[in-house]
Amino acid sequence: MGRDVIDDRLLGALHLRALTRAGLRHDPAAEHVAFQAGTIDALLAGDYDGDATIGELLDHGDLGIGTTQGLGGELVIVDGRAFLVDGAGTVSAVGRDVRTPFAVVCRFAPEVSVTAHGLDPDGLRSRIEECAPAGRSVLAVRVDGRFEDLRLRSVRAPGRPYPPLAEVTAHQREWTVARADGTLVGFRFPDAAAGVEVPGFHLHFLSADHLVGGHVLAATLVDGTIAVDGGDELHVELPAHLGLGVPGAADRAAIRSMEGG
Ligand SMILES: [Zn+2]
Repeated sequence: MGRDVIDDRLLGALHLRALTRAGLRHDPAAEHVAFQAGTIDALLAGDYDGDATIGELLDHGDLGIGTTQGLGGELVIVDGRAFLVDGAGTVSAVGRDVRTPFAVVCRFAPEVSVTAHGLDPDGLRSRIEECAPAGRSVLAVRVDGRFEDLRLRSVRAPGRPYPPLAEVTAHQREWTVARADGTLVGFRFPDAAAGVEVPGFHLHFLSADHLVGGHVLAATLVDGTIAVDGGDELHVELPAHLGLGVPGAADRAAIRSMEGG
């Protein structure tokens, strides 16, 4: 019998726990805890095969971001429903049985919620930062409203043999949406989580009509509500071939250039 808990570390204010897939199944969902499959380091290295399913993640959270098996595009989870934005920008629902090499979710229970309007990309980021509960290392973000000048991107599934993520994102598709009503969701992780997660903000978008979405490179908020949920725990499910590595030792510039927002 293998142990469910395979690694447990404290990185500053962040409690990082690595689990097997069975461990994730037995790990109860809880508010203010983020649950993740895979690591950003593995994704950077071109490891696009995960073993956890979208359904297993949805059992632990109703808001999240990531990708699907084989790097199928940008995953957006809003209100407990998972959608994938593929390399053509097409949005489709994702079934519970689909696996993921990298995704993070939480059971979103906002601690702060404010209305906001007229925020350019920098202003929106600053306002989200201002809303962050003091002393929390992990921030989950949800912004509902009317957006303008959305700059979005997605990637085309590369096929096997898998190339490193840098090769895939070099051919990523970027596009601009002049105006859309919808929801921006994602996380801000601390620098200490680099390699396991994307340090800083990582946000995805899904329009209210489920027709537009993607990884957010920039967004202007015309009018809407900013809600944030803070926590100090990140539980990471790792396939058997994957280790947690050395959190914090990752190439931050490479991560930001490929996965930053
Ligand atoms: Zn993304």
